Amino acid sequence: MSIYAAPPARPVVSVEEVRGVLEQHWGALRIVTELGSQQDRNFLVEDGDGRYVFKLANSATTTAELEAQHLALQRLAAAGLRVPAPVPARDGREVAPLTIRGEQLPARLLTFVEGTPLLAHDDLGPEQARWLGDTAGRVARALEHFEHPGTDRLSQWDVRTGLDVVAALAASVPSPVRRAQILEAAEWIAARLEPLRDGLVTQVIHADITDDNVVHDDASGLGIIDFGDLMRSWRIGELVPMAASCYMRDEPDALLFETVAAFAEHVESTDAELAALWPLTVLRAAVLVVSGEHQVMVDGDNDYADLRRTAEWRAFAQAVERDPDEMDVLVRAAARGGFAPRELPAGRLIDGPVEVVDLSVLSDEYDAGSWLESGAETRILLRRAAPGRPAVTCWGEYRLTRTHPRAPRGAAATFAVGVDVAVAVDTPLTAPFDGTLAARPGGFVLMGGGWSLWVGGEGSAVAVDVPGALRIAEPRSVRRGERLALVRAGTAATVQLTAGDGIRPPHCVRPLLAAHWRRVAPDPSPLFGTDITAPEVSPAQTLQRRDAAFASAQEHYYGQPPQIERGWREFLIDTEAQTYVDVVNNVTIAGHAHPGVVAAASRQWSLLNTNSRFHYAAVAELSERLAALAPEGLDRVFLVNSGSEAVDLALRLAFTATGRSRMLAAREAYHGWTLGADSVSTSLGDNPRALTTRPSWVELIDAPNPVRGTHRGPDAAAAYLADLDRLLDDLEAEGRAELAGVIIEPIFGNGGGVLLPQGYLAGVYERVRALGGICISDEVQVGYGRLGEFFWGFEQQDAVPDVIAVAKAMGNGQPLGAVITTAAIAEAFEQEGSFFSSAGGSPVSSRVGLAVLDALETEGLQANAREVGTEFAEALRGLAERHPAIGAVHGMGLYLGVELVAGAAFTPDAALAGRVCDLLLAEGCIVQPTGDHKNVLKIKPPLCIARESVEYVVGALDRCLSRATA
Ligand code: PMP
Repeated sequence: MSIYAAPPARPVVSVEEVRGVLEQHWGALRIVTELGSQQDRNFLVEDGDGRYVFKLANSATTTAELEAQHLALQRLAAAGLRVPAPVPARDGREVAPLTIRGEQLPARLLTFVEGTPLLAHDDLGPEQARWLGDTAGRVARALEHFEHPGTDRLSQWDVRTGLDVVAALAASVPSPVRRAQILEAAEWIAARLEPLRDGLVTQVIHADITDDNVVHDDASGLGIIDFGDLMRSWRIGELVPMAASCYMRDEPDALLFETVAAFAEHVESTDAELAALWPLTVLRAAVLVVSGEHQVMVDGDNDYADLRRTAEWRAFAQAVERDPDEMDVLVRAAARGGFAPRELPAGRLIDGPVEVVDLSVLSDEYDAGSWLESGAETRILLRRAAPGRPAVTCWGEYRLTRTHPRAPRGAAATFAVGVDVAVAVDTPLTAPFDGTLAARPGGFVLMGGGWSLWVGGEGSAVAVDVPGALRIAEPRSVRRGERLALVRAGTAATVQLTAGDGIRPPHCVRPLLAAHWRRVAPDPSPLFGTDITAPEVSPAQTLQRRDAAFASAQEHYYGQPPQIERGWREFLIDTEAQTYVDVVNNVTIAGHAHPGVVAAASRQWSLLNTNSRFHYAAVAELSERLAALAPEGLDRVFLVNSGSEAVDLALRLAFTATGRSRMLAAREAYHGWTLGADSVSTSLGDNPRALTTRPSWVELIDAPNPVRGTHRGPDAAAAYLADLDRLLDDLEAEGRAELAGVIIEPIFGNGGGVLLPQGYLAGVYERVRALGGICISDEVQVGYGRLGEFFWGFEQQDAVPDVIAVAKAMGNGQPLGAVITTAAIAEAFEQEGSFFSSAGGSPVSSRVGLAVLDALETEGLQANAREVGTEFAEALRGLAERHPAIGAVHGMGLYLGVELVAGAAFTPDAALAGRVCDLLLAEGCIVQPTGDHKNVLKIKPPLCIARESVEYVVGALDRCLSRATA
């Protein structure tokens, strides 16, 4: 039986014994804590001067090994790396062999390398991956000619013997399915490694440079710890542990390639080393899982090994999912920097002109979500192909046709590293360079001059057509300009040029890997005699331009936002053709790019757009329909351009109709940005100084929030109204009771959809009217069908206002707002002269407003808000049962709020809300926090949202909450 079957268990030693040993050999040192280790025992200790690690190795460790470690440490320190230094014992020895319970155990004291292991970085990203690759490279370089007998050792972590370890320990894996997976992986790894062995360079390596053993400290930079695996092995083994560690994380490929590229700056790997890296990485993951399982078996109470098992299994699972051929190509590209210096072939694949067709996010080829239909690409291309003028797609575009709605950001392989060529008539392809032609499924590959040209197609789209041969049984030489194949009329072929003669890359790749694949499959423009390169997209650059020119008080969502350039129904799409579910868009009720709205706006623009002093039908039609939607008696309509304008105008109507200017306004509310609307806005989330800077004509009333406010529960309405009575009495006593009116949202939009206590609004209206005031309902956010059961928010409260201010949803994003009121109030306003808003109620805005109302009616949007909204709320309440962080689910219809709290005291948890929103973005869902405490996730998607999207969002929220609260 090999030694791998039984890695030594950790030494058994009590803290008392450690204290005694320290005292005896090194003097007074205080034990701070025990540090984790799989096979040794490590203690952090300190004296007045500094911190140290006391290391007690297991009984299998020899003094020679430790000597080798100490010499290696000297070399690394000399090379400028931050590593521990041995502290000699009283007798001058660096290693003190101790006998504990009859066992000889080598003990040492090393200086403590300050810093946090990179492992602790929750968001370990490309930068940290580069640090790790760089460290591994520097270490391998510094140890290049180091020789010591203590480094020739048998270790289960030696990459050279990984297959033996797997064979010996696989039986420790309890699950038969997983065990079989491991053995299957071992088989292909063995086959791949066999021919490489002779080309693998041997030297001494650290053998465990991972995010666990590389620490970082802002003051001193990177440091390396744990030299317990120092050994003579394959040099590429220096990179393998970190490569495997990448697969414990999200987006591992990008991390791996960064690591490889940074390593390559210090070590020039041989072809064999690069080819061995991926199989060895998968092997390392396999060794980790079998060793972890084995360790738990022999040393069940080792929490450290136990905890790491989940991460190790994840690494293995993610690694075996990869295509080893693709990984091989990408590893080489990362290490060698790709094809950069090489000249592209100069010959043509297709003679004559081509039509370049754009399939990117901004393409005009699509409309009304047509990119989601199957076969869209070929259909579009064939539409554009003409006899003698094949249609060719762009290289380096993010194709909208490849997007996935309801999927994590970055999951859709949208970046085109291949192109498609569609032809209207049979079209010949010719060899652009001298090379060897070989048949491949559906097409062929031409290899020559360091390039491979891959051509393929569905079925018989591409027919090899070499003079003198109907099909190529054997590879054959062809010369530049010779005919190779025919692309059949009405079909499309795929074309890809790659450096070297490796494998054919995927046609489109994930955005995160775009930079890596570009190195492998460059722009084949010369083959077509025209530039088919898509313009590069750079959301970061656009953001910089925005930041430089667009006044920064106009904030943007997210630290590093995706650049959103297209929408469709409840979906938003970024420049990398990644699709998100839009959960925050309360404006676009009919959905993004709604065809009815698009057509109405476009047609009206082509006819006329002017102001409402002219006489045209649209303004009459829209006003009629709005008046018909309002309660009896509210039948006069003003048309403006925004919610702020509607609120501002509503306030002025109240002032002129009453001849007074004192307004009641609720706390925690937002009503708009104009001077008037801002005066009655009190939300601290929008303006932290709001409560201390309101003008003197605004009287604040308590936020009637029955969930988190002053009064809670079923009797809250009466209590809030009693407070209001007291306030009104006080105002009366101070001679300030002459009210123009009250402005209030009928549902706390800003608070995240909190419903007012039942009966509250009617009570407020009654009191205000008794004092001669006017009641304004701000329906800008919650009105217009969003609540499902009710068209207007005040209906939910069984109250009828005197003035309705509405906007947002009315125009589905087109600037459009309205004030709807009684004839008496409207006519009183005439004292102020005439009212005119240049674009308010313009022909275009009015037609858009009518198209939105048509959509609401014919597409049953309000009914969808009721049905899907109810299911949404139920699903969220279901989540609340499993996630204590969900303190409450507010709202109704498709105006919902998920309130996140910490602890039983219902403390608002803004940090959690922010983190969850970031995680949701990565899941492909756009959600933002709201409220005075910024702890309520606002859920107010387009009213056309599909059930599947709701299910996706709820599932994503579930995952994000679990992750953020783990
Ligand atoms: N009232 C309420 C309740 C709002 O939520 C908003 C906008 N968030 C406004 C008024 C102002 O609307 P706009 O941004 O269209 O000016």
